[in-house]
Amino acid sequence: MADAEHECGVFGVFAPGRHAAQLTYLGLFALQHRGQESAGIAATDGRSLTVIKDMGLVARVFDDHNLDPLQGPLAIGHTRYSTTGASSYDNAQPIYRSVGDTGFALAHNGNLTNQEALTNQLGLLPGILTNPPAPGCDSTTDSVLAAELMARAWPSGGRSDARELEHAFLDTVDRFEGGFSIVALDDSHLVAARDPHGIWPLVLGRLDGGGWVVASETCALDLVGAHHVREVAPGEMIVIDAAGLRSTQFATPTPHLCVFEFVYFSRPDSMLAGRSVHQARQKMGEALAVEWPTDADLVMPVPESGIPAAQGYARASGIPYGDGLIKNRYVGRTFITPNAISRDQAVRIKLNPLPQNIVGKRLVVVDDSIVRGTTTRQLVAMLRQAGAREVHLRISSPPYRWPCYYGMDTGRRDELLAADLDVPTIESFLRVDSLGYLSLGGLLEASGDKPESFCTACLTGEYPITVKDSYGKQPHPPG
Ligand code: AMP
Repeated sequence: MADAEHECGVFGVFAPGRHAAQLTYLGLFALQHRGQESAGIAATDGRSLTVIKDMGLVARVFDDHNLDPLQGPLAIGHTRYSTTGASSYDNAQPIYRSVGDTGFALAHNGNLTNQEALTNQLGLLPGILTNPPAPGCDSTTDSVLAAELMARAWPSGGRSDARELEHAFLDTVDRFEGGFSIVALDDSHLVAARDPHGIWPLVLGRLDGGGWVVASETCALDLVGAHHVREVAPGEMIVIDAAGLRSTQFATPTPHLCVFEFVYFSRPDSMLAGRSVHQARQKMGEALAVEWPTDADLVMPVPESGIPAAQGYARASGIPYGDGLIKNRYVGRTFITPNAISRDQAVRIKLNPLPQNIVGKRLVVVDDSIVRGTTTRQLVAMLRQAGAREVHLRISSPPYRWPCYYGMDTGRRDELLAADLDVPTIESFLRVDSLGYLSLGGLLEASGDKPESFCTACLTGEYPITVKDSYGKQPHPPG
């Protein structure tokens, strides 16, 4: 079985006369929350195409020393999501493939759900690329498979229109199943495409003075000074080169944006499908206060993910808002937990209670989601130890019950706390005085679009794209 790719950040820029790799560095920095495991940039000056990638945060991988030589007006970049599973250099992106006397690089956010079929079609052994070996790669991530398929579809013999990259993509994309937002480049073209369901976001921006940017989220456009033009449409491929921008609708769009982008994943200062993520999260909190009111002295967030929803809850309930937990702002998801550390310390590394604000108080504690429940359980215990009289937990999304097969790596079904437990059982497991989850209707209304335009598989088990491969996320594969 091929490794699964995960939720990531992608960025691409075509900016004549400018240092595209430096803009990409900034764009990746804004997308750091989408992936902390590895970072990479591919850039070209029209003659050579260079890829630099490594494990770690964007600011660790890149400095003036390695960015300066990445000259040219065209670049793409990638931040890869960190999971509890193995992380390795081979999974870092962009992925480079040489084709004849040229080459291309590709970066991908999402997960192809037919990796076994693709591996078999390509005649590859799972886990090892054998036929032919891909330079620098010994793992068959779905991104490597995508690049390999495109390399094999590369029009040979040179074409007068010099559009090999887009032809190779269009000749291959019908074989990709799953969720993907892809950026790719050769020595003179930037290609950006989104799967027909538009599971993962991808936006288009315009630079003052000429040039185009594509990025997973609008917060990356803001940082490089690009204006938000529009979303890349589900099933659309955009090609940007010296002649301008061309768009091809390669498949009929059937939009299913991941609703969890609104709940947790996107940065609150991003616009998703034209709507403010921060505002949507505040509305979720307001709806939560209406659906799950309680008598309490203080509404407090689990920082930082719970902040906008807690603000909304406090506003709608009239209960004062305050801080009960302080987050160590230097802890990222890549923090390596030392071996000899207690469970309590593991959570305290990130969050420490403010006893003076919570002693003797009845607390409404607001967070965006419970996935495995391990962090939440320890947090509740920590708040009680610090003197909280009552803990009323409010979650601004419905129970997370089903694994994501399209790119959000939240674990197997048997690892999800709410998979087979009802709310009263979860309530006693977490040792809270009360627990309220936002309803699906409340969440979708706050997210601001028609219910059928979202992927809600993790909450409902209704998967918009059938998954045929076995992904180790059983025992309940979707139909
Ligand atoms: P736990 O109690 O261990 O399930 O952790 C709950 C916390 O995980 C919440 O604060 C969420 O904000 C956070 N969370 C939700 N989704 C994800 C995700 N995809 N990756 C990492 N953390 C997440």
